[in-house]
Amino acid sequence: MNLSLIGLQWGDEGKGKIIDFLSNFSNIIIRYNGGHNAGHTIYKNNKKNIIKILPSGLFKKYCLCLLSDNVFLLIENLLKEIKNFKNIFISKNIFIINLIDEFIDYLFDKIIKIGTTFSGISIINFRKVIKCCFNIRDIFKFNFIKKLKKNLFFYNIIFIFFKIKLKISIFFLLKKIKKSIFFIKKKIINNCLLINSNSKKFFESSQGVMLDFNKGTFPFVTNSNIVNKSIYIDTNFYLKNIKYIGIIKAFSTRVGNGFFNTKFKKKKTDFFSYINKEFGSNTLRLRKSGWLDINSLLEMIKINNISNLIITKMDSLIYLKYIKLLINYKINNKKMFDYQNNIFNNNYFLFNSWKNIYNNYYENEKNFHLYIRFIEKITNTPIIIISIGKNEKELIFV
Ligand code: GDP
Ligand code: MG
Repeated sequence: MNLSLIGLQWGDEGKGKIIDFLSNFSNIIIRYNGGHNAGHTIYKNNKKNIIKILPSGLFKKYCLCLLSDNVFLLIENLLKEIKNFKNIFISKNIFIINLIDEFIDYLFDKIIKIGTTFSGISIINFRKVIKCCFNIRDIFKFNFIKKLKKNLFFYNIIFIFFKIKLKISIFFLLKKIKKSIFFIKKKIINNCLLINSNSKKFFESSQGVMLDFNKGTFPFVTNSNIVNKSIYIDTNFYLKNIKYIGIIKAFSTRVGNGFFNTKFKKKKTDFFSYINKEFGSNTLRLRKSGWLDINSLLEMIKINNISNLIITKMDSLIYLKYIKLLINYKINNKKMFDYQNNIFNNNYFLFNSWKNIYNNYYENEKNFHLYIRFIEKITNTPIIIISIGKNEKELIFV
């Protein structure tokens, strides 16, 4: 059986920790979207590791880690992370980001105000659409310099637009790319051969599905498709014999701007986020916190054909007296199903919180069980793992 893990909220559901554990049951871990705009935290022997671009199975020596087609790669960033991991492979179809893209991302965000991570992902996507970029394969072709000139053309137009007096020479670009590609040359492979082997595969989504380019809370979204159907296009794996697992936090958080219907009031979000160390793993920005939104969760479960759920951070809720779950949105007493509407009135379900947390499921308080069982029942999706802390072993198997 192949597995796929999809974050069903706005990211930071704890995918890194769970993938690290689930990779015990797979031979290949495939990261198929995003770039170094993601940030996954994995604690190993009490040491915190933040992974931005590599698949979260990298600590398992017997597991192959593959960066698949639709990942966007800033090689400089990869080299910072790759160190001595031998089990990493990179698809030859991956498109390359330049540090200049990060700078342009920053310039655009000053105007468009999406609150991006300034990783240049939107810029490389734009360059891809207008055909002013290149992938790894191109670097080894004889007409590469011609492609590079188109990149330069793009950058120069942007610099003129922003009145920036910067001139980049084609040789500077070429030298930089040749130098960085040298370090990863041996890791480049043809994705197709590996993906269609008989090995057990694990597909790792890099962001949350509420940030999906099409299905998310547009325009405050990422530039990749996170929904599971994109696995087929992004990895060349025909979707067969695959189990889709969804991961959620026991509440909601969001970094950056955009729709967040269940957000706590300012004082509460600051308190809750500080006490639970809810800082973006990538940007270190304080995450905004709020209640779990069942209405959008139901939609994301359906869209992604999720058969089981994993819930993390049940320990974070001990700081609250009561917990609310948003059931549906209401405007003028009418139920609304679209999470992109302006919502004035919502239906919440109220729970009392719990004080302590134990690794043995049955030792936990009644309210802990009620919360878990209610989510299972209302989503009609069994919860198979409950995470109660940041460390590897703080997991409950239900
Ligand atoms: P990802 O992007 O989905 O991989 O999640 P991040 O790593 O960005 O953010 C999740 C944060 O929550 C990290 O700091 C994890 O160490 C932490 N974490 C994961 N699971 C749990 C949990 O069950 N309880 C607590 N308290 N922290 C957790
Ligand atoms: Mg994250």
